[in-house]
Amino acid sequence: MEQIKVDELPDLLKDAVNKAIITSKKAISYYFRYDVCAVLIDEAGNEFVGINWESSNGSTVCAEQSALASYFLSERKKIMYVITAGWSEERDPSSENFCIPCGSCRQDLNDFCTKDTIIIGVNETGDEVRKFTLEELLPYSFGAENL
Ligand SMILES: [Zn+2]
Repeated sequence: MEQIKVDELPDLLKDAVNKAIITSKKAISYYFRYDVCAVLIDEAGNEFVGINWESSNGSTVCAEQSALASYFLSERKKIMYVITAGWSEERDPSSENFCIPCGSCRQDLNDFCTKDTIIIGVNETGDEVRKFTLEELLPYSFGAENL
């Protein structure tokens, strides 16, 4: 894990972080009140954006899952980066809270990314990120190779 100031990121990632922060405000989180946006970037530089959304039947779709659904409609080139930004509507943003994929999404990403895909979690104040490889977030993973 590496912690970096957003200003120190290359332009491609800085722009994606800012897009994730802005777009997270469109999330539909009536119940958990935690708004998230995920931006996937493939090896050609294409971006796939998703937000979390919740339904009155109790179901939730995470932002990463939403972004993957958009990615599935593409040529499915290698995913290089996954950027996640999120914040709670019910408290002030904290620079100490970083939005990273939940356990379920880590497993979903494992099926469509590679172990060296970079996961970038943005803190709630939007000025720092933590970078991980997918393997760091999901060591000893279970995937297609186990089936
Ligand atoms: Zn999730």
